[in-house]
Amino acid sequence: MIVIGADSLPAESWMKTGRWRFSRYKKEFTDTIGLSLSSGSDSALLLYLIAKSLSEYPTHDIHAIECWHAVDLSVTAYSSVERCNKIISAVNKMFPSISINLTTFDYQKRGNKEKAYYIKPAREKFYDEILERGPLLTGGTKQYDDDTLISLDMEILSDRTGGPAGKRPELMPFSDITKLIIANWYKRYNLMDIIFPYTVSCTRTGHGDMSMPCYECWWCKEKHHAFGLYDQMKDTSKKPELNNITFELSEKCNAACPLCVRTQPHNNSKPIEKVCAKRELLIEDIKHILPKHVMKTLDKISLCGNVGDPIAAKDCLQISEYITMHTNIRLIIETNGSMRNEKWWTSLGKAFAKSHPGSKVYFHIDGLEDTNHIYRQLTNYNMIIRNAKAFISAGGTAVWEFIPFAHNEHQLEEAERLSKEIGFSEFVIRKSNRKWSKNTRTWSFTNTKGETVNLGAPTEKNLGSGVKNKSERKETKIKTIRCQYKESKGVFINCDGVLHRCCYIPADLYKPKNETTEDTYLLAAEFDLTNTMNLLTLESGDILRLSKSNSFFDQLESEWKSCGPYVCQKNCGLKISGSDRIKQ
Ligand code: SF4
Ligand code: SF4
Repeated sequence: MIVIGADSLPAESWMKTGRWRFSRYKKEFTDTIGLSLSSGSDSALLLYLIAKSLSEYPTHDIHAIECWHAVDLSVTAYSSVERCNKIISAVNKMFPSISINLTTFDYQKRGNKEKAYYIKPAREKFYDEILERGPLLTGGTKQYDDDTLISLDMEILSDRTGGPAGKRPELMPFSDITKLIIANWYKRYNLMDIIFPYTVSCTRTGHGDMSMPCYECWWCKEKHHAFGLYDQMKDTSKKPELNNITFELSEKCNAACPLCVRTQPHNNSKPIEKVCAKRELLIEDIKHILPKHVMKTLDKISLCGNVGDPIAAKDCLQISEYITMHTNIRLIIETNGSMRNEKWWTSLGKAFAKSHPGSKVYFHIDGLEDTNHIYRQLTNYNMIIRNAKAFISAGGTAVWEFIPFAHNEHQLEEAERLSKEIGFSEFVIRKSNRKWSKNTRTWSFTNTKGETVNLGAPTEKNLGSGVKNKSERKETKIKTIRCQYKESKGVFINCDGVLHRCCYIPADLYKPKNETTEDTYLLAAEFDLTNTMNLLTLESGDILRLSKSNSFFDQLESEWKSCGPYVCQKNCGLKISGSDRIKQ
């Protein structure tokens, strides 16, 4: 019989329940224990305890721990694999006779389902191929009692002990102790300097890249209450100045989506004049802005403009091939998918096949053959599907992203089924609240044929959350801003090669004056639109030098505390982001 920690832990009550007695698995496996290592503080402690127990009971048969870790690709500001490796290395140094291996799997939680849904296939594969159906332990703890949760402003997590381990509590040895006990054991075993700094609990609810804990999610609050500390993320932040870049490759687009900033919704959906110049970045421009020594330092590049579809850019394929050659970089392209021929999409798919495993093309398809063109005007559904199939067949990873409206929400199920049949890796519902409020359920525009169209809001369950329209947002006066670009160490470069601190400020400037606010103009004049920031007129690679300056954000931070500027409230104010989608 093997008793994890029986002699190595103090005699806390949880030890007496015998949950970690693995003799019952003797029939099921031979020599390996599996551990779901999330890089959180529970599973890291569990790894330590298992290794300690195995090394102190040398007569038993088990000599290896197989760790399993799902990598959330939407979080690039720190490497969770790097964290896991550091935890394993620290434990290995203490117990060198124990073999500890790590298997990783990439996923991206872009829909509303629980994490378990996205990682299930890989978890099953790990069970079958690595563990051969042996036990896979996980490190979740019991949540605090209701009074403590209320005092900490934390909701009750009903599924805390859900998933496979929840059904077999013996696989979750900490399920009847709280994080306070875990924190005590970290201190008791002197793990606060050796393991704790590598643990990460924050889930960055509703946000993408971050280099700091959010301080507000359930897991941040729980950790802080127990340890008196948040995640120590800065310690291992390897690229402090610039992690990711979003490019607006071109101002060109074949479509006329009525809510796009390029479109005049009350003038037959014609593009606004400012974007008729059809400016674009060429492959030589990209190589000038991002020479190879800069490429080596980046994590992610997105091709996704405010007023243009990247696929329309003349050199989109060559630019994609240049980026995908650098396998350290995750390339994300966002498109309506209704341009170019199959040959072109096959070439793009081949480039993506050799790229970073998290590289993806997001096809924005808001309906099926009879509905997609109502919002995505001038696109051709059959051409989009043909292009997506060519891209996927050539090895590219594609995502179907769908905005529900009244006219298409009945097709969500069918579209999801079709997406699976075609081979899309994910189907994402992007719930929008751009035009809707409690009293506003339709919005009219004139389409490209000059007809009036009443665009209807979807039912409540498919609406974006939070404050719904501009006047409600203005009244809200949000003081807590989570600056997406500052936190992700990102920048935005427009199709002139001008470096902007984010995409939202230049997007606002395209809008008619009555739809934006004076403070956007002031911000832009002071920081964004000066020609000194045109990367095409500067030395190659100067982007690294320019992105170091923090004066822009330093000034903004003081303005956020007094509810300004509106562009920041609107796009990055907590609880009022424009859609439910997690930002890429
Ligand atoms: S496809 Fe994109 S860039 Fe083109 S009109 Fe629609 S939202 Fe705008
Ligand atoms: S709108 Fe403001 S807060 Fe949001 S990314 Fe831009 S600068 Fe940051």
